[in-house]
Amino acid sequence: METIDLKAILKTVKRISIFSHVRPDGDAIGSSLGLQRILHTNTGLPVYLYCPDVIPAKYDFLPGVEQFLRELEGSVEQDLVFVLDCSDLDRLDYLKEKIQQHPRLINIDHHVTNDFFGKYNLVDTRAAATGEMLYQLSRAWGFHVDFEAALCLYSAIVSDTGSFKYDNTTPETLRITAELLQKGVQPSLVSQRLFDERPYTTLALLGEALKSLTLDQDDKIAWMSIDDDGIEKCGAKPEELDGFVNYLRDIENVEVGIFFYHARVGNTKVGFRSKSMDVARIASAFGGGGHPRAAGCTVEDEPSMVIKRVLNAVHAFVDEQQKERLIR
Ligand code: AMP
Ligand code: MN
Ligand code: MN
Repeated sequence: METIDLKAILKTVKRISIFSHVRPDGDAIGSSLGLQRILHTNTGLPVYLYCPDVIPAKYDFLPGVEQFLRELEGSVEQDLVFVLDCSDLDRLDYLKEKIQQHPRLINIDHHVTNDFFGKYNLVDTRAAATGEMLYQLSRAWGFHVDFEAALCLYSAIVSDTGSFKYDNTTPETLRITAELLQKGVQPSLVSQRLFDERPYTTLALLGEALKSLTLDQDDKIAWMSIDDDGIEKCGAKPEELDGFVNYLRDIENVEVGIFFYHARVGNTKVGFRSKSMDVARIASAFGGGGHPRAAGCTVEDEPSMVIKRVLNAVHAFVDEQQKERLIR
């Protein structure tokens, strides 16, 4: 991985901005908040936080979460700019155009599909989470990580590893996690907020989505879909769909789970999960990206056409993988 002289770069700026991706997840939110806290406490510089979407309510317990902005605060031309947990700049949605030519843009990410969009690119595809990288980088840069920052980085790591269940969890992930716990983080409290408790509307929404559950191709593919009408019927918000796709992959014998969310604005957000196939390849073919076992894309077409096109592509991929005996 590229190394940068952050201390030298910091001498040239008076402000810092941190950006993360649309439909933010625990890694995007925890990493942004953790880095903000670390940079602010260690340099004294003002640090602005940007995300092109609302932050889901379940992250309300993270210190500083109220500071996320959806529009730029003044000009960022003179800032040092960090972009976290984004495989490409399209992940910043409408904020992309504000920083795409920025001369001091640091890209910190762990996606295999990262396209090195930054002036500096700190990309480590072996890292379980961007939050894990930020802890390592903070150590290398000689920055102190306090309890609040540790809580945010822990939340980032526990989110992207599915509570240390996924195969991105490495000995280094657990060593870093141990250091975060030594700073006072309580795993049970984080788990309760992020995974074990959900609003009633989320369960109602799961019930609604499950009505469309379909098994396909000798039960190797499981998919379901929902649209904004279905979400509103349950009194729920789109952010409550987060994690539903995992239920599909968890079905016995299923290799690929696919979740389709047809938004009213005319595009469909597709989420993929797999047991052993590289679904980032499928997502990339539709202009998206992600990780080998968790990927996504946004497709603009009639809802029924999106489902048809994506299922065709996944069918062909599953066939190919079965022929090569890469899956059962
Ligand atoms: P999700 O299914 O939304 O939890 O996303 C799973 C993974 O796919 C995450 O690592 C995302 O960063 C990535 N991903 C989701 N949607 C997109 C997209 N439209 N473009 C690129 N990557 C995506
Ligand atoms: Mn993310
Ligand atoms: Mn991540």
